[in-house]
Amino acid sequence: MDSQPPPSPAPPPPPVAPGPAITNLPSTCPVCGEAREEDAQFCQACGHNFVGEADAAPPPTGGLRGPLLWVVVLFWALLAIGGLYWLYTAFYSL
Ligand SMILES: [Zn+2]
Repeated sequence: MDSQPPPSPAPPPPPVAPGPAITNLPSTCPVCGEAREEDAQFCQACGHNFVGEADAAPPPTGGLRGPLLWVVVLFWALLAIGGLYWLYTAFYSL
């Protein structure tokens, strides 16, 4: 009667708490520039949602958008027209 109870198997490790994958979040708030605390999903200064922004499409970097794009297009268009006009008149003035 000296039977010992079998060693109980080690309990499985607790599952990792599921949560939104927080990856590639900005270190600073893009709205107010406040430094983002680690694991913080909202800016403590202005309440900006970092996670929501990460899920959304990434902001364009270095791209021209809006009026600035039209200014550049207009500039090159006028430059091209001016260059063609100059060539046209130069040929006829020869
Ligand atoms: Zn902020």
